[in-house]
Amino acid sequence: MTTSSNPYLTKPRVYLLGRQAIVQEELARFLNDEGLTFTTDTPVAAEMLNEIAGRICYLSFGKGRKSNQEYLENILSSKHGSVLEHAVWNLLITGVSRSLTHELVRHRAGFGYSQLSQRYVDESDARYVVPPLYQENEALRRQWEQTIEYLRKAYADLAEATTQYVQQKFPAMAPRDRRKWARQAARSILPNACETKIFVTGNSRAWRHFLELRGSPHADMEIRLLAVEICRVLKRESPNIFADIELVDEPDGAPSIRVLHSKV
Ligand SMILES: Cc1cc2nc3c(=O)[nH]c(=O)nc-3n(C[C@H](O)[C@H](O)[C@H](O)COP(=O)(O)OP(=O)(O)OC[C@H]3O[C@@H](n4cnc5c(N)ncnc54)[C@H](O)[C@@H]3O)c2cc1C
Repeated sequence: MTTSSNPYLTKPRVYLLGRQAIVQEELARFLNDEGLTFTTDTPVAAEMLNEIAGRICYLSFGKGRKSNQEYLENILSSKHGSVLEHAVWNLLITGVSRSLTHELVRHRAGFGYSQLSQRYVDESDARYVVPPLYQENEALRRQWEQTIEYLRKAYADLAEATTQYVQQKFPAMAPRDRRKWARQAARSILPNACETKIFVTGNSRAWRHFLELRGSPHADMEIRLLAVEICRVLKRESPNIFADIELVDEPDGAPSIRVLHSKV
């Protein structure tokens, strides 16, 4: 775990690690085999893949709506959402709390997750995510930090004592397993604010649903601000798939996400 002079984090980081590419030769081979012609005006592979998936349904290559934006707008407004499952982005997210990821992984359909393990990774030097409300109030933040400092020390002491106990109980156990046994027990006292890192792969239908639910003013503020950050990334990635999704400033002082075509 990274040791940092400031163990307190105030913002999530979103790293866009993966996006799709079109295999042009295979697309050309398909069109040739079927005697079809197809061109589209988008340079974005995700948008093109969703359009191709939609056009397969009606075998409408070379017919109907001309621009990709127009095509996908019709998919969104007619709620032909399964078409949107063909575009995928891979995001690595850091600087978020375990309470945030507990909410994030409730999103099942169309998502895959890989998350830092508190059994394999020593959390003695873990960083902690300051809830947005405590970022704006010095007295509450101080009280929060004191509590975290107490818990940080309590975890390190307990992990050390537990490691010794496991060593006595299972002297033949491999050191790696001993550490895992100790951490899996000691982690029970780590607070929700403990920082975690999570690799998330989601398709465009799933991301849209996540943005709608978690970008809402009713969502927890930490996950709402993460949703806003992801929204910025995905709108840059695909202006057409996320065209009807916008950021607005709310009276509570933070941005939220509005979706025209709800739950496609
Ligand atoms: C503001 C807010 C407050 C919340 N409060 C609570 C709370 O107090 N307690 C709590 O437990 N959770 C709470 N949740 C979590 C919420 O209940 C959902 O678990 C979470 O938002 C994931 O939504 P989802 O199931 O629609 O998403 P996904 O799991 O990604 O599913 C997407 C869609 O696929 C379909 N689907 C997925 N799985 C199934 C299935 N098994 N059967 C049929 N259809 C399926 C549904 O249409 C679903 O909407 C809250 C969420 C929000 C946004």
